Formats: sequence, structure tokens, C-alpha cells
Amino acid sequence: MIKRSVGFAACMFAGGGLGFWVASEKGLALGVVLAAFVWLAFDSLYVARLLNWLRLEQGNETPAMIASPLPDMPGVWGEVGNRIRRLLKNRDQQLKESHARLEEFLAAMQASPSGVVLLDAQGRIEWCNQIAAQHFGFDAQRDVLQHIANLVREPSFRAYMAEADFSHDVLIAGSSSTPKRPVRLSVHAHSYGKDRKLLLSRDITAVELAEAMRRDFVANVSHEIRTPLTVLSGFIETLQTLPLKEQERTRYLALMAQQSLRMQTLVNDLLTLSRLEGSPFPGANDWMTTSALLVQCEQEARALSAVLAPQGHQITFDVGPPCEIAGVQTELYSALSNLVTNAIRYTPDKGLVRVSWKVLEDGRGEFKVRDSGPGIAPEHLPRLTERFYRIDRSRSRETGGTGLGLAIVKHVVQRHGAELLVESQPGQGSCFSITFPAFRVRRITPA
Ligand code: ADP
Repeated sequence: MIKRSVGFAACMFAGGGLGFWVASEKGLALGVVLAAFVWLAFDSLYVARLLNWLRLEQGNETPAMIASPLPDMPGVWGEVGNRIRRLLKNRDQQLKESHARLEEFLAAMQASPSGVVLLDAQGRIEWCNQIAAQHFGFDAQRDVLQHIANLVREPSFRAYMAEADFSHDVLIAGSSSTPKRPVRLSVHAHSYGKDRKLLLSRDITAVELAEAMRRDFVANVSHEIRTPLTVLSGFIETLQTLPLKEQERTRYLALMAQQSLRMQTLVNDLLTLSRLEGSPFPGANDWMTTSALLVQCEQEARALSAVLAPQGHQITFDVGPPCEIAGVQTELYSALSNLVTNAIRYTPDKGLVRVSWKVLEDGRGEFKVRDSGPGIAPEHLPRLTERFYRIDRSRSRETGGTGLGLAIVKHVVQRHGAELLVESQPGQGSCFSITFPAFRVRRITPA
């Protein structure tokens, strides 16, 4: 400012001096006035340049004058221009940084496994992530500023938002929910800022399904155990209270032994299942011969057939080429024997049961059990491997079935990377096959 005052005074002094030199005293005043005009004219020119330069900013997010050179302005206007430019540069940098932070924050919310919706004080959508868009059926761009109550019309959700008691969540149907494939969402609202709300949504379909399966499983196990227990305690009471003949006693004891065996088989199958679920996946280094497995199965099949079918079954075992298979021996035996014993148990007297092992052209190994039993209707096929799923309850129980055999087979098959295939038609018998991947099968030369 001192420089500017000194400059102004020097200009006046020069103008006055020049006027005095040209026209003595009269010229002095005129010279000073003229010098003041010249000063003002230059000053206005610099102000106009500065303003024009400043106007370059308008309408642009990043001020254009930051990039364009500062107009030629000496003295104080040049300094003003420089300072403005520096301030703008700083502001621009800060804006860029906060924009980047916002983007990162939104990216983090986008990556959240839960649906996230931000609502303003009026309940309008300000932002939502893709998961929330899927859950509620929003369009993340188009539905911004739409009122949430217009888009989520489920009465329980509206009541939840109206009550504004956000200490708990609300359960609603997801937008993609259909009667055949229901989708359940848990939605929890949280208040923040000035009347704003954060909605978090979670797809709990799988959790609810698992919970329902757990409940069913416990109910089924209790039922399966209670039935033989009731029979057993009934016989015990009879034996304790009634004077029975030796023949009756023997018969009752045999029935009791049968029931306790049934419970034992059930508990063994349950333990097998829980072991299968809890143990690490089988490696591919433990090899056993397929013939050993099949021989063991054959002995079991023939013994069971002798008990169940007075006239026997026509049983054939084709052990195929000498081979080894890699996996857990107890599991593989359990899977194969379940299929073979099922074939015996469900095939009537004199029926046909054919068991075979072969190596396919692509190196995979196929274990197949074919029977001439009653066959299975198509609607049952997808559910056969569910725990306790039975088509013929009485036949299953009569022959010592637990309803867990095929569930065990499914687990073993999955753990060994194999494939279970069931082909069956009512009245035309059934064919169950397990195909093992090539890396678990190798041919051997017989010793
Ligand atoms: P279960 O102990 O009742 O045999 P599984 O899990 O082994 O239980 O089998 C489930 C159901 O599948 C059986 O109850 C039976 O109705 C049906 N099933 C299994 N194998 C055969 C078969 N070879 N022929 C006809 N039905 C079968």
C-alpha cells in the first residue's frame, strides 16, 4: 500500500512538474489533474483485466483461471491476482481431496455385504448401494429422491418407519421373492444427523432355512428315537408286571433287542453324518482296491438278502478291471454299502440286484447299483438325499432303515468330488450310480 501511495504521489508530482514547466502556475494544477486521470485510467484497466480473469471461473467446477496465465498487472493488482489464484488453488485441492474421500467412503459402503440406504429427513432416498437396490428392487440412480414409502409398500415396513422405534429390526419379503422361492429380509433403521436415517438390510433366507432345517432335524431325531423307546419301555413294564410264559418272554425280548438295534443304527448313522460334516476333506493319497470294497459289500448284501427275502434275490457283482480308488476307506464303504443294501431292502423276493464297477473312457470310475424294485416317482427324486426323507416309511422301518442312508451317500460323494446319479421310474426298478473323478481312480496290474 505504501508503494502504491508513493507511486501515486510520484505520478502527481511528475504531472504537476511537467505542467509547471510548460505553463508555469496554471499548468501545475492542470498537470496534476491530468496525471490523476492517467493514473485512474491505468488503474481501471488493471481492475478490468483482473475481473475478466476472475470471470473465467464461472460455470466450471475447476476454476479455469487456475490453468490460464495471470493477466499483465503490475503493482498491487498483480499481487491481488496472485493471492486470489493461490487461494483458489488451495480450495480446488481441498475440494478434490474431499471428493476423493467421499468416493472412497461410498465405495466402502458399496462393498458392504449388507444393503445400505441413506434417507433424508423426509424419508427420501439420498443414496443406496447395489445390494440394497437388489433387496428392495430400487434403481440406484433413478430412485434417488423418491420417498421410500412409495417404493417399499409392505405394511410391516411402513408401520416400522411410522412408529420410529428402531431398537429392533423388521422382517419383510425381498423384491425378488416368489411363493416358490421366498426371499426374507431383515431391515434395521438407525437415526443419525438431523432426522436422517440409515437403513441396513440383510438377506436372511438362508439363515431362516437353516434354522427351519435344524428344527425339523431335531424333531425328526426325537421322533425316531421316541418310537423304539416307547416300545421298549412298554415291554419292560409288561415284563416287570405280568407273569409271562417262557415263550412269550423270549418273543418280547427278541422284539426289545430289535428296537434297541434300531436305535443303535440310528445313533450310528447320526454320528457318521456329524463326522462327515466335521472332518477335513479326504486327500487323494490313500489308495484301496475297488475289489476289496466290492467283496465286502457283496458279503453284506447276501447276508441281508438271506434275512429279508425268504426266496432270495438274484445278486450279481461285476468287479470290473483291477483298480484302486483314492479316498477315505470307511466313507467309501459306507456310501457303496448304503446303495447296495437299499437295493436289497427295497427289491422284493426273487428280484434282481446288479452291482458293477467300471472305468469310463475319460478315466473316471463308475460304481453302479441297478435293481428291479418298485422304482421311484420323479417328484421324489430331488428330495431323496434329504435327511429322514422316505417314500415308503413302513418298508424303510421294517427293513431297518433310518432315513439317513442317502444323506450319508450324498455327503461322501460331495467330499470325494464325485457325482451321484439316480435314474428310476415307478415299476421299472432303480439305478443309483456314483462317478468318481479320474484323479481318484487308477488301474493296477494284478499281483
Ligand atoms: P432309508 O433308511 O429309509 O432307506 P435312505 O436315505 O437310504 O433311507 O433312502 C431314502 C428313501 O429313498 C427310502 O426311504 C426309499 O423310500 C427310497 N429308496 C432308496 N433306495 C431305493 C431303491 N433302491 N428303490 C426304491 N426306493 C429307494
